[in-house]
Amino acid sequence: MCKSIKNLDVVIIGAGAAGMMCAVEAGKRGRSVLLIDHAAKPAEKIRISGGGRCNFTNLHTGPENFLSENPHFCRSALARYKPFDIIALLEKYGIHFHEKKLGQLFCDDSAQQIIDLLKNECDLVGVTWQLASTVSQIRYLESDSTNRFSRKRFLIQTEHNTITTDSLVIATGGLSIPQIGASDFGYRVAKQFKIPVTPLRPGLVGLTVSPDNFVCFQNMPGISIDAQVSWHHTSFRENILLTHRGLSGPAILQISSYWKPGTAIYIDLLPQFSLHELFKSQQYHNQRLVNLLAHFLPKRFAQIWCDWVLARLALPHLASKPVRQFSDTTVLQIAEQIHHWKVVPNGTMGYKKAEVTLGGIDTRALSSKTMEAKQIPGLFFIGEVVDVTGQLGGFNFQWAWSSGHAAGQAV
Ligand SMILES: Cc1cc2nc3c(=O)[nH]c(=O)nc-3n(C[C@H](O)[C@H](O)[C@H](O)COP(=O)(O)OP(=O)(O)OC[C@H]3O[C@@H](n4cnc5c(N)ncnc54)[C@H](O)[C@@H]3O)c2cc1C
Repeated sequence: MCKSIKNLDVVIIGAGAAGMMCAVEAGKRGRSVLLIDHAAKPAEKIRISGGGRCNFTNLHTGPENFLSENPHFCRSALARYKPFDIIALLEKYGIHFHEKKLGQLFCDDSAQQIIDLLKNECDLVGVTWQLASTVSQIRYLESDSTNRFSRKRFLIQTEHNTITTDSLVIATGGLSIPQIGASDFGYRVAKQFKIPVTPLRPGLVGLTVSPDNFVCFQNMPGISIDAQVSWHHTSFRENILLTHRGLSGPAILQISSYWKPGTAIYIDLLPQFSLHELFKSQQYHNQRLVNLLAHFLPKRFAQIWCDWVLARLALPHLASKPVRQFSDTTVLQIAEQIHHWKVVPNGTMGYKKAEVTLGGIDTRALSSKTMEAKQIPGLFFIGEVVDVTGQLGGFNFQWAWSSGHAAGQAV
């Protein structure tokens, strides 16, 4: 039984980064806005992001920082709401932030400041909240003159009430971290309205490696190495982290979004040097391989890696010899392993650990200017639920702000 019927200009399902930004913008235009979320608190992902400090944007944001079947789709929204727009909003609230590296901006204090800012902006424009509320049904009312709700296009049923609206915005994010409220709601809505969804998979996630060929490295979890990681023509130079189950760290998270199952990634463990040159140099040529490598890599890792590579090349006796005694062929083989270490992951750590979901609402079905579904007037998709996924470094929140802003001008 319906307890009440509300009529609103805009209903946004999902009170995360994108949903709240859209609510603020729509509210500024004088629209009556309701934000619904099944979680008791809004924007839990902002709260846990960036180690609790939220990497809220990246100064160097451009379309090239996003993965999508249609790489041009994000251009228009990104051009109309830029990193400096969100920076200006933080400055208006006196929230201090800093650039950590590579254009990545983090709050000095806490991600909660951004949630409070967005909540306050919503309150200023009169947004209504409906938290801890589950949507059980959405109906599209077409223009049916016999229907008493025909003034509005959508009817939304929750356990608390029935709502009708002209503009329905789906901002329910992706599948990562179901522990804090992620759900497949947005993809189900797309299915209901026959809107295509591109294949989904976890992104920005640690990679697992079968113990068969990795066991020696799995005994050193927590070791971090500055490396260059490549998959086909894509490379990232940042740290990698050894874990019990394989590899993680920023460079691995980045490449995970590009990696395809069954293929190898290649790791350059000494990206700033040529091992070949180091072998020839006066400074190192009298040293054992392990001692030479320990100048550049963590000691324990250098030891295990040397044992591993020499066993692999069937040359364990070279462990006690200075590198000047190595043949040219051996030097080349070792250099190949250090600069082009081939690792074949057998999977990822999955949605429980992933920062994002790759794939989503097919952008060909949406207007890049407004995020509205081309075939279903009044239905909008914004944020991570759309097939636009940022690289690591603040790009995903920038997409949430930009797409939320774009829809907020049109709802
Ligand atoms: C651990 C972690 C750290 C991250 N750190 C960063 C970072 O520092 N910088 C960065 O740019 N990106 C980061 N990300 C990615 C970023 O958090 C997301 O890309 C971004 O939050 C997406 O915003 P959104 O509004 O589209 O979705 P979300 O923020 O996921 O919001 C979706 C909202 O919808 C609600 N919802 C879901 N299903 C339903 C339903 N059925 N009914 C009602 N409500 C529903 C959820 O409760 C949630 O409030 C991180 C992600 C994770 C998991």
